[in-house]
Formats: sequence, structure tokens, C-alpha cells
Amino acid sequence: MLLINTDHNSFYTIYANTSTEPSTRPTTSNVLTDTYQRHHDYLRISITERCNLRCTYCMPEEGIQLSPSDNLLKKEEILHLAKLFVNQGVTKIRLTGGEPTVRPDIIELVQGLGALKQHGLKSLAMTSNGIALKRKLPALVEAGLDTLNVSLDTLDPHLFEIMTRRRGFDKVVGAIDEAVKLGMPHVKINTVVMRGINDQEVMNFAAYTKDRPVNVRFIEYMPFDGNKWNQNKLVPFKELINRIESMYGKLDKLNDGANDTTKHFQVPGYKGKLGFITSMTDHFCGTCNRLRITADGNIKVCLFGNTEVSLRDLIRQGKTDEELVEVISSAVKKKKKQHAGMFELASRKNRPMILIGVVKQRYSSRTIPAYLLSAPAMQWTHQRAYYSSKTDPEEPRLTHTDPHTGEARMVSVTDKTPTKREAKAVGRIVLPNQAYKLLRDNQVHSMKGNVLTVAQIAGIQAAKATSNLIPLCHPLLLGLIDVRLWLDDEKRSVECESVVQTSGKTGVEMEALTATSVALLTVYDMCKAATKEMVIQDIRVVSKTGGKSGPWKSDNVK
Ligand code: SAM
Ligand code: SF4
Repeated sequence: MLLINTDHNSFYTIYANTSTEPSTRPTTSNVLTDTYQRHHDYLRISITERCNLRCTYCMPEEGIQLSPSDNLLKKEEILHLAKLFVNQGVTKIRLTGGEPTVRPDIIELVQGLGALKQHGLKSLAMTSNGIALKRKLPALVEAGLDTLNVSLDTLDPHLFEIMTRRRGFDKVVGAIDEAVKLGMPHVKINTVVMRGINDQEVMNFAAYTKDRPVNVRFIEYMPFDGNKWNQNKLVPFKELINRIESMYGKLDKLNDGANDTTKHFQVPGYKGKLGFITSMTDHFCGTCNRLRITADGNIKVCLFGNTEVSLRDLIRQGKTDEELVEVISSAVKKKKKQHAGMFELASRKNRPMILIGVVKQRYSSRTIPAYLLSAPAMQWTHQRAYYSSKTDPEEPRLTHTDPHTGEARMVSVTDKTPTKREAKAVGRIVLPNQAYKLLRDNQVHSMKGNVLTVAQIAGIQAAKATSNLIPLCHPLLLGLIDVRLWLDDEKRSVECESVVQTSGKTGVEMEALTATSVALLTVYDMCKAATKEMVIQDIRVVSKTGGKSGPWKSDNVK
């Protein structure tokens, strides 16, 4: 038995059981109980800072500074700490990161943790992005992994690439299917919802639960260092429920567990479930039962708290288990009743998400301004139309005119950092029946060559010449120009899609638009001998990535 002094100058009795024997494990320990009587039986351990994706909401665009590998917890240290926590009453451990599967010793680590099930651990979980998971999954399950959360924010492979800045959609879906096939009982999909980016995906995910026994959980977008959080991108869960119910009818409300941060629902008759992790608009810290260990070995008692104590240093200094338990207990006792409100948090410093490795924190609804809870107040989004505004930097404005005189001017990009940027523009030319038939039958081709190929080359050349055509456009070195044209029999049209990439200081929307426009003009030119009744229409940018405003996707993409 240890006696420790707390902040409040009173003494707490701590039953510090540092033995690893199951028989001596106390049934109740107050080491992990804080001063608000919250008992912490859930430990989330971040086992790496590395990741094979670059999700825009998690990772700062410029990347993160990785700790030297010596600073990170070694497998033995993780197992040592895990055992200590289990002995004090932790019954659930979740491995997270970074991406836990990129750790080379992940299977041995899970084996070691799985062995703690003989010492009181009931559940061993992992949150993974699924990219490198499928092949390792059977061994992980064999080693004791029983609960899996896979992060997937969209069912559209292209949007996946935009949101994660990497390819790999099929691998993630493959990992989810594998987990279901292996009979894992609680396969969960974590979907961070961002307005104007993937909020339309909730409908697709609802459909996804029809035949799959998975639990898709929509997570409200949270602010962390470097993720450029802004309230317009947050979609309150109530709005999402309304949207889903407008298409699927009333959802069945399911029971939630005592410490559950998820509100569970189900489309009647569907196999899977839908959940809402309402961290931002409807939460409280009152039932929080989580503690976290960061990859560099700090204990973090609150996701949004900045207080951290290095357990790694204590282990390396050769402190005894009793001393470690004392420090852990003291940290737990300092846990605040609740953390600050969302706006305050958004402006505060915290680790980037990737360095904490978590979802789900409860907020007091009292800390959320009432207007945030109403959907209409959030209607204008980051989909920037550039109107003029001299005062509010968040207001859309015309960037190519002087805010005071209205005169045209080029935007200075001299001090900007180059980033990878991509834009996609689409458009079509609709032809009368007869001309379309000619095009289809290749009759027009024979007059001036293959129309679509010529149009494609014209589009590519045009993209390169954009800065010569549009006066205030900066010249850019383009890394990729991909112009595709195809016939659509139903619309009697030639459809065009142009994707342009660069690693530069300004975006490539104008290049993509120019490519599409000129490709379609070329079709017009080559068919005008047959008809002049052609209509070029619907030329527009449908998605873009990179730059300060981050990824954007049009709501009107079918
Ligand atoms: N790499 C793993 C993954 O993505 O599943 C584990 C680590 S990741 C930091 C853990 C979870 O945090 C993921 O489900 C991710 O979607 C979520 N997350 C990251 N940034 C977030 C944010 N700004 N708001 C809400 N959830 C976020
Ligand atoms: Fe990597 Fe997970 Fe963060 Fe995405 S959410 S960047 S997968 S750690």
C-alpha cells in the first residue's frame, strides 16, 4: 500500500499492485481512479509516430517531425507498461499510432499483449488505416487481437486519394473484408466527416451496411495542431442523422454502453450499424475512462490536455514498478473534470493527431455555442467562390484584384512553400443526332484524323500554355496532364476529363479548365463541317487538392 500526496494537499490511499501474478491482482484499485471518481480501465497506446498515409485532417500538410527512434518506446517497454496498467485494473488496450501496422514488431507486440489476457485484460483492439493490414491480420487475430477499427473516410477511390494524399483504397476495403471473413466480431469503420469534402459519403456508407456486419462510425472533425480545422468543415451529427433519415426513413436507435462515446443506430433490416462519435457537439467528460500513452512514452490523461509525464524516462532511469505506479496515479488524480470548449481548443497548441493516436473525446454541450448546433448557421462552406471582402480573412474574396482599388493584379507567391497540387476539370460537347452518328461511325475521323486523339493532344498543349492565355496566371511546371475524352451515347456527347498535377506554389485549376475547354473546342472544330448546332457545356472544376485551402470536391459529381 502506498500513500501519495496529491495537488489538493490531502492523502489518497493507493493500492498499488505491481505484481504480475493474476492471483494477487486487486479487484478494485484506485490508482486509476481520479478525483471525480472516474475509473480508467481503457488504455490507448500509440506504438509509432510513422504512417503510410497523410490524411488531411490528421497530418499537418508539411508533415511531422519524427522523434529519434531511441526516444520511442521499445517493445519491452510497452509490454512492461501494459502489464503495469492491467495490474491496476485496465481491461481494454487499444493500439494506435501513427499507423500501428508499420511497426516491424507488431505481431510480436500483439502476442505479448495478448498474453496479458491471463492477467485480467479482456479486450485487445487496434485502430488501423488498413493499408498494410490484410496479410498480417490472421497472425494478429491468432495472437489475441479481438477488436478492429479501420479508418476509411470515403467509398470513392479518387476521393480516398485526395483525403489521404496516397493511393490504397482497395487495400483498405480488402482488409475490412478479411476481418469480416476471419469472423472478427466488432469490425468498426472510422469515418471522419468534413463538410464539402466527404459529407455526401454518409449515404454511401449507410448503403454499405446493408449486407456487411460492420459498424460505420461517423466522427465529428476535431481540431489538432496543423490540421487547419475550421468550424465550417464540422458537420454536427444531428445534421447527418437528418440527412440519412431523409433517404432511409427513421433509423432504429440501439443501446449504447456505459462509457460509449458512440451513439448507435441502424437502418431497419440492415446487417451493419451506424454510429456517431459526437466529440464536438454533444459530449461531456463525465464518463471518460481512457488514458493514453504516446509513442514517446508519455502518459496523457486527456486527449486535449497538454499535461504529459514521461514514463519512458522513469523506466530508463531504473525506477521500480511501485514508483511508476505512484507517478501514474498522481497523473490520473490531476485529470481535470472536463477540458476547454471547442473554440478555445481550436486556437490552442496540442500535439498533431498523429502524435496522440486517438479519436473520441467527450465535451460538455454547455461549452458549445448554441449557434454551432444549428445546421443553417454552417451553410456557407470552404467551397470558395471569390467575392470581395476587405475585412474578414475567412470571407470569400476576389484574390486577383486589389482589395482597396479593385485593380487587377497578380498574386505574389514568392514566399509560398511549394506543395503537391492536383485539379480535375470536366466538360462536354453535345452534338445533334446526325453529327454524333458521324463521329461514332468514324466518318469525321477520316476527314481530319481521329477526333478524340487530336482533341486530347490539343488539351495537353493548352494546359501547358495556360499562363500565356490567362493574363494573371503564373507559369507552372506541370508534372502530369491527363486529358481523356469519350463518347456518351445517351447524352450524344463527347465527355472530357482533365487532371493536372504540379508541385508548385499555386493551384492548377486554370490549367485543368483550359485543357478541357480547348479539347472540346477541338472537337467542335473537327465536326463543324457536319453541323454547327453543337453545345459546349458544363465545363467546371470538380476537385482539387493541395494549397492552403486543402482538398475540395464538388457536391455535384455523379
Ligand atoms: N493510423 C490509424 C488510423 O488512421 O486508423 C490510427 C491512428 S489515427 C490518429 C486514429 C483515428 O483518429 C483515426 O480513426 C482517424 O480517423 C482519427 N482522426 C485523426 N484526426 C482526426 C480529427 N482531426 N478529427 C477526428 N478524428 C480524427
Ligand atoms: Fe495516418 Fe491514421 Fe493520421 Fe491518417 S489518421 S494520417 S492513417 S495516423
